Amino acid sequence: MEVGDRDQGLSIYRRWRPRRFSQVVGQRLVVETLRRAVAQGRLAHAYLFSGQRGVGKTSVARILARAVNCLAPQEGEPCNECENCRRILSGRSLDVVEIDGASNRGIDQIRKLREEVGYVPAGARYKVYIIDEVHMLTGEAFNALLKTLEEPPPHVIFIFATTEPHKVPPTVLSRCQAFEFSPIPEQVIREKVLEIAQKEGIEIEGEAAELIARRAGGSLRDAEVLLEQLSQGGKITAEQVVELLGLPRVAEVDGFLSALLEKDAGAALGTVENLAFRGRDLGLFLEEAAARARDRVIEGDARFIPLARRLLQLRAELPRAVSPRLHLEIEILSLCGPPAGPTAEAEEPQEGQPQGDPWRAMLTAILEERPSVAAFLAPAKAELTDGVLTVRLPRDCRFHYESLLEPEVRSYLEETAQQFFGALLLVDIRWEGREDEGPSLEERAELVARALEGRIIKEGEDAGTG
Ligand SMILES: [Zn+2]
Repeated sequence: MEVGDRDQGLSIYRRWRPRRFSQVVGQRLVVETLRRAVAQGRLAHAYLFSGQRGVGKTSVARILARAVNCLAPQEGEPCNECENCRRILSGRSLDVVEIDGASNRGIDQIRKLREEVGYVPAGARYKVYIIDEVHMLTGEAFNALLKTLEEPPPHVIFIFATTEPHKVPPTVLSRCQAFEFSPIPEQVIREKVLEIAQKEGIEIEGEAAELIARRAGGSLRDAEVLLEQLSQGGKITAEQVVELLGLPRVAEVDGFLSALLEKDAGAALGTVENLAFRGRDLGLFLEEAAARARDRVIEGDARFIPLARRLLQLRAELPRAVSPRLHLEIEILSLCGPPAGPTAEAEEPQEGQPQGDPWRAMLTAILEERPSVAAFLAPAKAELTDGVLTVRLPRDCRFHYESLLEPEVRSYLEETAQQFFGALLLVDIRWEGREDEGPSLEERAELVARALEGRIIKEGEDAGTG
């Protein structure tokens, strides 16, 4: 039985499942070694195939099971046409047994295996046991298995597949010939997606294939399943993939990276605001940004080295941040410095006023003293009219707004603003949304406060002593 039979949307995956070693995508070293071993009759009693999901472990196990039993093998490849090959391909062979280590039938199947293993194969040369997700077997099942592995009958071959080889007991590992399956490179997946699409008569844009390959994260199976799902609606466009998978747009990611390089906090924060507004996953966005920064480094652009490193680190931190958005905004500010304020652009500096851009200078100072307050202010537009500094928060920044209204934060802001804007009468904090819209952010405020606890406590101490 095919592992994927119970799942939906797997017909492309099944049709394109490799049937010969030479058809396996992206595991050249592994399949060449196995093919030669079969051709030369140098077979091990037990193999361990490790690697992430969707990289071909089970497919290769099945090819190997046929290759060792084929009546007319060609240089180690199964012919897929002889009686043995056909029986195994159709799942009717009693001599090739697949056990799913993740199912709770595992132990029963291993017990059965121990009883059967002594008998000679029914029709084939070898009895082949393929145990998928072998690390999931219970201790009891492992012990039963080990007894067989210690004195393996000559006509038995075990093929263990696992995504987590470190969970396989060393006593079992030491009796296996181990093969590590690598994640399949994006470029290779992209080409395969294009090839499959062409042969299946699916119209697809090159960029769409690229996005699918990237999203598949090294798993050809994931790419094939995605291709199948996306093909239901006619031609596959990049826009469609972006929408359906909630992926970041390439141009948007590149714009974000340029903004960070040019230390344009306003543009970088604008991107984050836009993503948040569209309900996009910031983690996915950062992953894409980190991947593209890494690509630039590989292409030889050294400016991206620290950026790529920082983005990867940030990507790892994000799931632990209670407010990923705020976490990202603080990071943008510390990478770029605060954004330029519109006030300075609109007004000529007057005598007696601080030179340059007072809003930006103020944010720089706040960023030094209290990074979270700087993050609350970062998306704001500021305007100085008749001694009133109006700070406007965009509609989707209700939390930023509410945080700035905290009495302690507000008075800190007023005091600081006095230092940077000459004759200041008032700081007017506004929000462009309506109080009655959207979910209440009180609970979130609580959570975010906890997320920022480290900084807040530190700031509290600073405020206390200074
Ligand atoms: Zn054959």
